[in-house]
Amino acid sequence: MSERNLLMIPGPIEFEPSVLRALGEKTRSHLDPVFMKAYGRAIKRLREVFLAPTAQPFVVAGSGTLAMEMAVANLVQPGDKALVVNSGYFSDRIGTMLERHGAAVTHARADVGSVPSAAEVDTVLATGGFKLMTITHVDTSTAVLAPVKELAAVAKKHGVLVVVDGVCSVGGEALEMDAWGIDVAFTASQKALGCPPGLAILLASPKALATSKARTRPVAAMYLDFAEWLPIHEAYEAERPSYFATPPVNLIMALDVSLGHLVDEGMGARIERHAKLANSVRAAWQALGLRPLPMDTAVSANTLSALYYPPGVDAALVKAVAAEGVVIAGGLHPALKPKYFRVGHMGAVSRADLVTTVSAIERALRACGHPVEAGRGVAALG
Ligand code: PMP
Repeated sequence: MSERNLLMIPGPIEFEPSVLRALGEKTRSHLDPVFMKAYGRAIKRLREVFLAPTAQPFVVAGSGTLAMEMAVANLVQPGDKALVVNSGYFSDRIGTMLERHGAAVTHARADVGSVPSAAEVDTVLATGGFKLMTITHVDTSTAVLAPVKELAAVAKKHGVLVVVDGVCSVGGEALEMDAWGIDVAFTASQKALGCPPGLAILLASPKALATSKARTRPVAAMYLDFAEWLPIHEAYEAERPSYFATPPVNLIMALDVSLGHLVDEGMGARIERHAKLANSVRAAWQALGLRPLPMDTAVSANTLSALYYPPGVDAALVKAVAAEGVVIAGGLHPALKPKYFRVGHMGAVSRADLVTTVSAIERALRACGHPVEAGRGVAALG
């Protein structure tokens, strides 16, 4: 396949050329003043992106799963009770992880395509004894958006720590970490933050840091321990040299550039842009008769779409779309995997990308024997 395809999966995504140029620059020493400045600036910019002036950012080499494990490893001790607000595949993953770290895990589950309500979560938390609750902001397997603000408010009422998996949301969906009382929010570089894969990014509230500090036994995995990373991040923020484990220099240089784009755009404008693009692409899916997996728009993510194949069409559609030069993703949720496909629309995504993608899907649907009128979806984009 040509290198000039359009990558429209829900991460990694298409990146800004300026970000890729930073990645391709000569690798500096991790103690080089230029690098220290960029790392320190990236840390500060993360507070702006997460709307978390009081939180401590951590940026470490790894993927979103490592960020997830960092949250769990620091907050959980064997026997702690945890509630997983379960909206799909990635909620199951954090549940498994919590169990491996010795937590007693309860799941609040909803039908596939939906998310438990704040009232349901309130009822479970009222049974008492929970230390923390996890929310998958956007479950990438289903494109379901959780009402983080409402859910976090319920957890706060019960004095429960709130952990938000923002891997498929941060930078594309509204998230106000401090104002909503979130204790840990994490993401990875390759989605709406717009930087190639390889960075686990986590922000911890003062309460989350204190919880980790008050542990009766140290975090077993040294690489995940807040206490190891805290002095390093404080030093880089102050542009002082420091070492614990070699930072991924080029990725952090690239992250600084991509976060600069987010801050320049402004978080409000960026979230609004994602919402507008998601609304137009939803209109296109409707015009093409493609049924979304989320049960209604109130629980539909703006960062990606998950759509059932129409009758008579299967995963061959994904290949047919690739033949049109656009890379999309198949299903992921085990209960429905062969029945649907996913399209990412986050980060640097533009209207032109959506026109190309919708048009490729129209053509591919026809190639798969499902007649749709040429241009119908594209016209509906508005
Ligand atoms: N959580 C969510 C919501 C995700 O979408 C993903 C990745 N798709 C992960 C966690 C895991 O991230 P990674 O693949 O970078 O380990």
